[in-house]
Amino acid sequence: MEQTFIMIKPDGVQRGLVGEIICRFEKKGFTLKGLKLITVDRPFAEKHYQDLSAKPFFSSLVDYIISGPVVAMIWEGKNVVLTGRKIIGATNPAASEPGTIRGDYAIDIGRNVIHGSDSVESANKEAALWFPDGPVNWQSSLHSWIYE
Ligand code: UDP
Ligand code: MG
Repeated sequence: MEQTFIMIKPDGVQRGLVGEIICRFEKKGFTLKGLKLITVDRPFAEKHYQDLSAKPFFSSLVDYIISGPVVAMIWEGKNVVLTGRKIIGATNPAASEPGTIRGDYAIDIGRNVIHGSDSVESANKEAALWFPDGPVNWQSSLHSWIYE
């Protein structure tokens, strides 16, 4: 089953959106396979965002991510990478549809509350970086009520 890496960024934690965000993924039917509250250092944040290192916003992005604790999660389910991105909304909250997390809770691109992996490949890479011991191995007893 597919997994994705989701991170509630420091603004999401500070603004008390942790429960609301987890709720949206849980209610959709996805399964939580990893969860921790963690403050990361600069080298770790730079590694997470290494593909963006040439971008002009890279250093302010890293400053933002290390500015406070984040909630790192692994979520599992059919098509969870793409569907997770839809639940999150467009990168710039000004373009995110209402009903998405960024559309409902964010205004500026540099304070957009949440990260979600953009492909299965990056999901696997990010999950391995943030959860070196791997996901928690359990099966939800709701499985047959969510999947046909
Ligand atoms: N970002 C930014 N300015 C930009 C583009 C991106 O500050 O012009 C930040 C924003 O927080 C975004 C993150 O960099 O979520 C990673 O950018 P990416 O293009 O990967 O967007 P995402 O995958 O998060 O939607
Ligand atoms: Mg991205």
